[in-house]
Amino acid sequence: MRPKILIVEDEPAIADTIHYALETDGCDPVVVSAGAPALDMVRQEKIDLIVLDVGLPDMSGFDLCKRLRRHATIPIIFLTARSDEIDRVVGLEIGGDDYVVKPFSPRELTARVKAVLRRSRPGRSKDTEPGIFEVNIEKRQIIYCNTVLELSRYEYDLLATFIRRPGVVFTREQLMDRVWEAPEASMDRTVDAHIKNLRAKLKAVRPEPDPIVTHRGTGYALREDL
Ligand code: CA
Repeated sequence: MRPKILIVEDEPAIADTIHYALETDGCDPVVVSAGAPALDMVRQEKIDLIVLDVGLPDMSGFDLCKRLRRHATIPIIFLTARSDEIDRVVGLEIGGDDYVVKPFSPRELTARVKAVLRRSRPGRSKDTEPGIFEVNIEKRQIIYCNTVLELSRYEYDLLATFIRRPGVVFTREQLMDRVWEAPEASMDRTVDAHIKNLRAKLKAVRPEPDPIVTHRGTGYALREDL
């Protein structure tokens, strides 16, 4: 199966270059030139990875990423025209998996795409080899050790965030930013409360080990050795 890559880029020359490079490299690329059609496409089709320009005509790539993250755990590689560190950090903090700074070579981009696809494969979706977790994006359902978890909306989004990047420590602020639409004042405790519920549900399926690791003073991460 050729991985289906959604390219969200409003500059036709760049979109064509990426499309050609990915197609030549064994992928199945599709191009849209704005955020709204990208959201539609993700709802309708199974997309394996998104190449996302930060500067889009109808919304910023960062906003689009945040909206996508509410529904899906699809890996995202940002294309940014600005090479300053802040853009890079923001791009990754907001839920991107990697970024490429324009101008870039097609080869550089295809290498990043391959690397992110490789990294995101374990436990990521229902038609890759099943890991200990299986995420069904369409149903917003997570299966753990062959058991369907009964999760609230926030618990699903939290766990899907962890599964997408095992081992990565997320601060409470980052989790709040990704999962909650309107961050609340008592945010640390809100995140902690939902993590506690999530842990109880995971423990009910399998008592040991606890898949979520607490990093004191920092935040939470998914164990890498599951
Ligand atoms: Ca642009």
